[in-house]
Amino acid sequence: MHPNRSVETPGVPLVEMRNISKSFGPNRVLSSVSLTLAPGSVHALMGENGAGKSTLMKILAGVHHYDDGEIECGGQAERIQSPKHAQELGISTVFQELSLLPNLTIAENMFLGREPIALFGTLDRKRMYEETKAALEELDLKLSPGLLVSELSIAERQFVEIAHGIKARADVFILDEPTAALNAADVEVLNRQIARLKAAGKAVVYISHRMDEIFNVCDTVTVLKDGRHVASEALEGITESDLIGLMVGRDIKDLFPQRGANFEDVLLSVQDLKLQADSPPVSFQLKTGEIVGLAGLEGQGQQDIVRSLVGVFKPDSGHILVSGGARALPLPAREGIRDMQRLGLAFVPEDRKEEGLYLGLSVAHNVGISLHSQRPGLAWAKRYKQQVTDAVTSMSVKASSKDTSVGNLSGGNQQKVLLGRYLAAGMKVLVIEEPTRGVDIGAKSEIYTLLRQFADQGGAVLVLSRETIELIGMSDRIMVCHDQAIIAEMQAAEATEHAILDAALSTSSEANERAAVA
Ligand code: ADP
Ligand code: MG
Repeated sequence: MHPNRSVETPGVPLVEMRNISKSFGPNRVLSSVSLTLAPGSVHALMGENGAGKSTLMKILAGVHHYDDGEIECGGQAERIQSPKHAQELGISTVFQELSLLPNLTIAENMFLGREPIALFGTLDRKRMYEETKAALEELDLKLSPGLLVSELSIAERQFVEIAHGIKARADVFILDEPTAALNAADVEVLNRQIARLKAAGKAVVYISHRMDEIFNVCDTVTVLKDGRHVASEALEGITESDLIGLMVGRDIKDLFPQRGANFEDVLLSVQDLKLQADSPPVSFQLKTGEIVGLAGLEGQGQQDIVRSLVGVFKPDSGHILVSGGARALPLPAREGIRDMQRLGLAFVPEDRKEEGLYLGLSVAHNVGISLHSQRPGLAWAKRYKQQVTDAVTSMSVKASSKDTSVGNLSGGNQQKVLLGRYLAAGMKVLVIEEPTRGVDIGAKSEIYTLLRQFADQGGAVLVLSRETIELIGMSDRIMVCHDQAIIAEMQAAEATEHAILDAALSTSSEANERAAVA
């Protein structure tokens, strides 16, 4: 084991960040945040997207400078100047955006900027190779130091970054959402390595959205919300819903509306949808009053399934039935979405700005736009005006007036306008991607309520979201995608993040076995 400060001076925190504030231009993203990293601890840093986690860690890593506050490393005040300076202070980082150079070998990356020179002024490749090998072996990695980084998987690249930190004798390891792109086996290897770092007296900061990992790996948690420090506590004795409550600033049961109860007529039926010629067929139904969530790891086909229903993605084959109207898939690319709208199915894409809203037009115009296309004519105009006013009122869109242009609204209010458009137009089925992306927590809750209202009024919602907690909270039923198929289905009231992740990670044969047993 390497000698390190932490073992020599137990009790002194490896890092103490006190009252750190940081603004980007006019936006204050951290307000007086404090964080203490003890030796031999794994510290979870939690908070919703945009809470300021990465910014706080980039300050510690020397990437950003802070405006106010102080940092001590090993009891000594430090003004961290640069990433290199942070490294010298023993701080090692694995960021979401990986920093290894793909065209260099593992060994070259490990020694970047600190290449050892041999006797005659040449690069000491042998030493590079051997030291790299030793660092990799310390992590039980069977990778040759001569491999190009571009040949490594994302997981392997992350492990190499950790090995890099070990080689540099770092005391503090920052892992910013390391598992977002990892499969189950790699997550396990990573967790073993974290346990090892902890046993060696290092401090690890672990940022992840997966609750079960947090509880498996971490001993302490700090929660941020809107750039403010909410809590720092030992994880022991804290429950998952306590944590979510701290993150969102209210009790989780107050965040989501009541689930639906009566699901009767089938509103949407998808039959034998095959994304590719050789993909398994996907069939499912949505009933009145029902919100159904689609979960899955990135790129397992869930988005293609959703987009096949509106002609944005071109699947191989299949059928779709919307309130009695049957169509063959693939739908025609341009006409598909309008045809679906006529049948009563509306689509709210992930990127609202690009695909959904007319930012230069007013709230009223945006809400009314699908009414226009439905029924032209003067007689309609008066009722139309009333409907727009009703919709804007019922959505509690925070705009100074309904004539405000949509481009000036917050993300949450833009989303509400988009939903209002379809509510006003009397749509039956809503297909929606990432409904609360880039939206603050108050608006999130309002959006969940709007979607539930839509369902309660006899509609049905198919929702795609990367936030598992959100899917569990807002849906009635959850379908999990893996490898272009729906491989598991569960009642949301009984679903856990763990069960969903488990299904999302498994091969289809395992999932089939599980389904057969259930
Ligand atoms: P988290 O990691 O918790 O999701 P971030 O620290 O990435 O949050 O972001 C916090 C806030 O700071 C967000 O509102 C984000 O848009 C903003 N932000 C982050 N980095 C920058 C930057 N380089 N310039 C301007 N704003 C930024
Ligand atoms: Mg982040």
